[in-house]
Amino acid sequence: MVALRAGAATDVGRVRSNNQDSHLTSDPLYAVADGMGGAAAGEVASALAIEALNNGFHSAETVDPDALIQAAQTANRAVWDEAEANPEMRGMGTTLVAIALVQGPELAIINVGDSRLYVLHDGELRQITFDHNLVAEMVAEGRITPAEAEVHPRRNIMTRALGVEPDVPIDLFVEAPVPGDRYLLCSDGLPREVSDELITSLLTRFADPREAAKELVNEARNRGGNDNITVVVVDVVDEDPRSTGPGPATETAVDTDATTDLPAAAGDPEEQAADQPPALAPPARATRSFLSVRVVAFVLLFVIIIVGAVVGIVWYARSSYYVGLKGTQIVIYQGRPGGVLGIDPTLKQVTQYTTADVLPSAIPDLKAGHEEPTLAAAQQYVQSLVDAKATADRNASPPTTSTTTTSTTTATTAPPPTTPTTPTTLAAP
Ligand code: MN
Repeated sequence: MVALRAGAATDVGRVRSNNQDSHLTSDPLYAVADGMGGAAAGEVASALAIEALNNGFHSAETVDPDALIQAAQTANRAVWDEAEANPEMRGMGTTLVAIALVQGPELAIINVGDSRLYVLHDGELRQITFDHNLVAEMVAEGRITPAEAEVHPRRNIMTRALGVEPDVPIDLFVEAPVPGDRYLLCSDGLPREVSDELITSLLTRFADPREAAKELVNEARNRGGNDNITVVVVDVVDEDPRSTGPGPATETAVDTDATTDLPAAAGDPEEQAADQPPALAPPARATRSFLSVRVVAFVLLFVIIIVGAVVGIVWYARSSYYVGLKGTQIVIYQGRPGGVLGIDPTLKQVTQYTTADVLPSAIPDLKAGHEEPTLAAAQQYVQSLVDAKATADRNASPPTTSTTTTSTTTATTAPPPTTPTTPTTLAAP
């Protein structure tokens, strides 16, 4: 029968004045939350999330992966509601990564934000969760390399966080509980300072999960401690069901107070910190911010409206044709007479006809510009004007044998109306 044994440690680091991380060791549920927001908001957000997750999970009727997701949604709502109720808490949010042993047995893992969960299996470290931040997504899309991501100026921008929207998508992973496997939950303060190789070696060296957690936190602190550091180490163990109660390594407290995380033993990172020589001034790090989905949606909508309007205007300006005059020549333009918002019509076709080929009554219409929806319709209109003139000319003269089949070109070369009487004029020139 498998069971979990865990140890946790947290430290404010060497730069930040307060610890906005919270964590939970409440067998069989373990979690880390890294809060963000001004003043005390970050601490409030992570603590609220952890508390709501714990209550939600332990009150679930069925202990399955869905219970963990539901508990995380409850946590999201708790942070969101608190932020809505307190204007000074607006915009607060938190990451949340959690693992629980559920029926099956299975290990259910959920994640929102850029805290992480790794598994150490057969000496190999593998990150199971995906970081919800801008640079991780850029790496995943192949736009930048992992090395570029580490120094990217926007590496602090999260794309998903708990508590900043009424609902949040939650990643779920399910793993088989293999005795001997070791899971590591941590806030970003650990991987920022400590390489995967060093994490692997420390996890391998210290068998006791509490000791391993403490060593990892110390290492991150000693290597810069630019952010709060929180680590929960969870071991999958084979447990004899007849044994009495949980072993000493299992902590069962909801613990959101940074200063009392570790057992009051020597080697508490918080205490050790006081004895250490002053650190070299670490590089300033931007405070993490959250790129709200809502802000992105609004900006996107705005851009779509602007682009849509421009496309619409251009379409309107260019979609029509009109027949007009260029001097005495009848021409076809694409566009609207006079243009639309600076989009001038363009000359599409110079026809073979002039004002002399159409009835005088058609000239004002041409001067104003006669609109047609298509080029073909515009050409047809020109033809109709020319035909009308030809018909009028024929009616004014005696019928000839070639009336109906006479092409418009021939018609325009027909004799002027001043000599309408003689049928022989066709042959006259
Ligand atoms: Mn952090």
